[in-house]
Amino acid sequence: MSGGTVALEVRPKECVVAVDGPSGSGKSTVSRRLATAVDGVYLDTGAMYRAVTWAVLQAGVDLTDPDAIAKIALETELSIGTDPAAPHFAANGTNVDEPIRGAEVTGAVSAVAAVPAVRKHLVALQQAIIASQPRIIVEGRDIASVVAPDADLKVYLTASAAARAARRSAEDATDVAATEADLARRDKLDSSRATDPLRQASDALEVDTTGMGIDEVVQHLLSLLDSKVSK
Ligand code: C5P
Repeated sequence: MSGGTVALEVRPKECVVAVDGPSGSGKSTVSRRLATAVDGVYLDTGAMYRAVTWAVLQAGVDLTDPDAIAKIALETELSIGTDPAAPHFAANGTNVDEPIRGAEVTGAVSAVAAVPAVRKHLVALQQAIIASQPRIIVEGRDIASVVAPDADLKVYLTASAAARAARRSAEDATDVAATEADLARRDKLDSSRATDPLRQASDALEVDTTGMGIDEVVQHLLSLLDSKVSK
């Protein structure tokens, strides 16, 4: 997907939009653009799981020990950026924007995110942030089902496995086949975990972004939001 301008003006006084879907479905790009379009903020819940994973790896904790992982998660002081133009993250005072996108964190994040106490802690933080903002776009895996079940608009973004891998490898400059295998591995872990698995909420609208440009997706979501909220 490429950049561009957004034509439809939608400025509700208040709105919560939940954007769920698997990795590479376009959630981040679309959510940031949508947040800017409604003059709202953007919450990247995946980055929260990634920042905690960074702290867990820094602490050298055994990734098969849920109690040790939970302890680090609860002790880690997160600074969570919600500006859609520059959503910076810090953990225990260290900026983690780069390392949370690296292979080490990406390889470990699904294991950390599967620990129920980690999810409970981060979901509570997410709900507090949502409650403090008039307009917020929240992206993740369990937003419509768990974090914000009363969201004004719930969308589930999908795209073909090939399209998702092509987008991610273009972003990360990695090999497409290896990226596709890694996305499949994470989708499987995220969909099969016991606590809050990745799934489409029954009242979420599915949007298949395969072959759609970013403007087209953002316009489509703005028109859906327009029909859901009073301006
Ligand atoms: O969206 P992103 O790929 O950055 O998310 C990284 C990982 O964080 C996901 O693979 C998933 O394991 C976890 N996650 C989650 N629940 C969310 C957001 C992300 O379990 N709401």
